[in-house]
Amino acid sequence: MIIDVVYCMSEPTISEENAPQCAVCSSKIVDLPTNRVIATENNGEVEYKHFCDAGCESSYHT
Ligand SMILES: [Zn+2]
Repeated sequence: MIIDVVYCMSEPTISEENAPQCAVCSSKIVDLPTNRVIATENNGEVEYKHFCDAGCESSYHT
């Protein structure tokens, strides 16, 4: 169940080491203007899924 969608959270200070990985293609997400984050609720726990772009996000949903 998707409870929130966050578009383009700009975090210019994020380091590559701490960068999240795309949930689909495992690319490091660093300073990508197209990155997307969705929050999902799973048995009462909120999980954040990161995607490098809309294409990977739609791959995740299908
Ligand atoms: Zn990706």
